[in-house]
Amino acid sequence: MTPAMMKIQRGTFYEIKATVGSLKAETGGPLGGRLDDRIVSDFFFDQHARRSAASYSPNTTSLNKLLNSNWNPRRIRLLGFVHSHPVGSPQPSLGDERYIAQIMQANPAADALYMPIIRSAADFGARFRIFPFLVVRGRDGVLRVEPCLLRLVGDLASAPPSANPRASVTAESPVELRYVGPSSSETYVRVTEAYDLARLSTSRLIIVGCGGSTGFVESMARAGIPDFILIDPDRVSRSNLATQQYYRRDVGKPKVECLRDRILGINELATVQAIPVALEDISDDEFERLTTAPLRQWDVPLRGMWGLAGIETPARVLVLPSTILLGGFTDSFPAQARINRLALEFGFPSLCAQMYEHGRAAEITFTAPGITAACHRCALRSRFEAYQNGYKSSVTSNGTPVFATDRLNASKGFLAMALLHHGSKHPFWGSLLTRIGDRNLIQIRMDPEVALPVFSRVFAGAETDRVLFDESVWLRQKPDGPANGLPPCPDCGGTGDLRKAIGTFTDTRIMRS
Ligand SMILES: [Zn+2]
Ligand SMILES: [Zn+2]
Repeated sequence: MTPAMMKIQRGTFYEIKATVGSLKAETGGPLGGRLDDRIVSDFFFDQHARRSAASYSPNTTSLNKLLNSNWNPRRIRLLGFVHSHPVGSPQPSLGDERYIAQIMQANPAADALYMPIIRSAADFGARFRIFPFLVVRGRDGVLRVEPCLLRLVGDLASAPPSANPRASVTAESPVELRYVGPSSSETYVRVTEAYDLARLSTSRLIIVGCGGSTGFVESMARAGIPDFILIDPDRVSRSNLATQQYYRRDVGKPKVECLRDRILGINELATVQAIPVALEDISDDEFERLTTAPLRQWDVPLRGMWGLAGIETPARVLVLPSTILLGGFTDSFPAQARINRLALEFGFPSLCAQMYEHGRAAEITFTAPGITAACHRCALRSRFEAYQNGYKSSVTSNGTPVFATDRLNASKGFLAMALLHHGSKHPFWGSLLTRIGDRNLIQIRMDPEVALPVFSRVFAGAETDRVLFDESVWLRQKPDGPANGLPPCPDCGGTGDLRKAIGTFTDTRIMRS
């Protein structure tokens, strides 16, 4: 029998992560959703629960208030409870079972309740984790507690506030998740139709590698992205002036700082974190802190914020990024390989690019959890295998004309817009990713003679006196797994659903084999 699945809305998952997942055990709260699909869409952070280091019991008064005044009128039903346990007890305790039995006795109609256990980041100084469990009433009337699978639902558009403002959440200050409206700045008056500026204004871009990608990053600022995290340990050298968008005044300075100034030179309201270190020196915890910092925050008095009449607490309003895109643009293979793992672990869409020798061709791979079936490693299996067998690339950016870099950057821009706009109402960008689908390996030839057989294959029947070069091929990628006669991909598992890899890495600095 396949284990049961607990489905939860991405936004709700991140709300739990930002509260229960960020506070010392034991905290928790009820889970709600509609009975027809049993997707957890509502969570109430139960601040008034009785808690000790060893147990959590929901406050029945506030629970009943919540059900009567907020959930029931919206046809939201109680689907279960989530709470945190101290490190080392990742399953429901006897007390938890007793409590759930009482709840089920009182609701004869309820035949199953979710009871996921959280390991909080606050307790361990380590990683947040969720251990999903389902309590089912068997036909014999006996309750059984069984582990189940967890799936985050909701596409990139509807869902992904990545909220773990660990540093700023306390039990006394509830968190409201809020999204800001369109950018009204005069800078963008001529592109209000070119993009969905409202969408882009809550997007965050994490760029690893600020060499050839400088032109791309600048263009992202011109398209209205307000928030950047730039990671690159290099300083600008004189020889960069011929190949990258740097200037004489930049020589000797960290690339990330020069690029930050360039972005602020386009949009003074942008937020740019310039991090002049190599990706391998950033731990998963540090990476998570970078990604989950709010775009903006402020404190306001709010009334009945959780739908509970009579509760009045000052709240911290966090403007969270609605979409985070991870870009891997280095020529370091280990860094590119880790970007795949980071994107999978945190469930972010990602975009990677590589220039081939002398800029005669280039490649882009991307992932979009829930859309692409294959990860970067599946798409580039032979390269991963070669590196694991000791291969060292001798390809450098030496000999690459700046036009090849610009050409590649333009294609990266189209794909970044498709990823960031996915599901928006924009007439062009909103559905582009759906059309691209799982063609997440793109190759571009910039030399008619380049030795890439795929081009002669694709253009075999074309009029060869009209087709020459400067084309892209969009290659459908399948996940590595038994269905394709291959061992499962060590990174994504080859299930065809990249969301299943979320939270499966203990340390993304380590390559799985
Ligand atoms: Zn418990
Ligand atoms: Zn894979």
